Amino acid sequence: MNTDKMFKPFEICSIRPPTENQSLTFRLTRNCYWNKCTFCPVYKLGSKFIKRSIDDVKSDIYFAKRLNDKLDEFKTASDVSGSLANPEAAEYHCAQEMIEQIQQAQGLETDYVNHAESVGVDTNLTDDPVTGWFMQWFKETPTIADSVNHLVSWRLGGGRSCFLGDADSLILKPLFVKEVIDTVKTSFPSIHRFTVYGRTVSASRLRTLSELKEFRSAGLNRVHFGIESGSDAVLKRVCKGETKNDHISGCLKTKEAGLSCSIYVMPGLGGQQYSEEHASETADVITQTAPDFVRMRTLQVFPNTPLAKQREREVFVETTEEQVVSEIRQMILKIDARTQIISDSATNLLNVNGRLPEDRRAMLHMIDSYLALSLSQKKLFSLQIRLQAFEGQYGGFSEDIYGKLMPFINNATLDISSMPEATVDDLIYLIRSKLMP
Ligand code: SF4
Repeated sequence: MNTDKMFKPFEICSIRPPTENQSLTFRLTRNCYWNKCTFCPVYKLGSKFIKRSIDDVKSDIYFAKRLNDKLDEFKTASDVSGSLANPEAAEYHCAQEMIEQIQQAQGLETDYVNHAESVGVDTNLTDDPVTGWFMQWFKETPTIADSVNHLVSWRLGGGRSCFLGDADSLILKPLFVKEVIDTVKTSFPSIHRFTVYGRTVSASRLRTLSELKEFRSAGLNRVHFGIESGSDAVLKRVCKGETKNDHISGCLKTKEAGLSCSIYVMPGLGGQQYSEEHASETADVITQTAPDFVRMRTLQVFPNTPLAKQREREVFVETTEEQVVSEIRQMILKIDARTQIISDSATNLLNVNGRLPEDRRAMLHMIDSYLALSLSQKKLFSLQIRLQAFEGQYGGFSEDIYGKLMPFINNATLDISSMPEATVDDLIYLIRSKLMP
């Protein structure tokens, strides 16, 4: 019997923190039980929340291990790794051959699964290119190719990290998480670091300190919290389902339990109305909790979200880019705690990175240099940064962006210095609407 018929894909966490991009991932739950945050496109496209059984998760770990072992065998048997100088290329080459072999054995011409169709989503939504891109990238029903490529990325990243998703793994019992971690460690002994996404409301109200400690002794190392804002008014308006107190108590308890605490904040989320309060209250949460990492992810209004509809009705008025930078300035100025600021999202205009308090001056200098520019210089600066980000994310420009740039390309050189302000504004808006966080 051809044993290639026995391989199965395992589920992967499409949504994970950027630092976990090269982690091996397993889904302990599917999607988000809350799913109400008005700015959040994730999990809203027809996906249902499910707590998976331990047998289901173990089955995924089993199939991940089998595919990984097969990848090892394939590499040993193949002479391609010797003929390709680039180990990354060799790894992907082997993976591709292995995928084709399994697909052939299983009688699959291709094992591509369209997420939109698999969950019965109205595909008219995909008229929007960002939503379409998101749906292709979101692997609710992964294939053998997705699973193998995921393993390859983990192997090339050093094979040491594992992310256990989806949106809030703290709702699971520590014993359940322990059983998963033990099984992963047995199957993948090189893994030494386990991380999850959590909601502060779970850390503060659902779990006791001793339960959080149980997560730690089970082998969990870090919790990533999307706190977004420290302002209760903002949290309420965006239906976050959490309060400033949840953020403070959840982060402090997590740290006390010995877990590393990484938080995401979202400059711009307060809109024009709450810009000041959003910045100062968020700085206050950071001061009171001193998380190990503070990651900035500027608000990007995603099509088809409740927030996009509020913007259409002018219930929500977006901050300007300058106001967003001023919010970040206010936070950097006010945070009175030891922590590390990281800007690792394409949505950010400035790469404000550094440790507080020692790098405060350098970070403020960078921010102030931008703020000192004239309005038209700020816009040109923003356009340059957004063009670079878009090219970095998509590998080139889309037709609509290219069309707007065409009149300013001379001898294959783009010169935006003479671009009318209205065109600059249009382009920045267009590019930002297509950038993924
Ligand atoms: S809790 Fe997180 S995943 Fe769930 S809706 Fe809110 S932002 Fe999205």
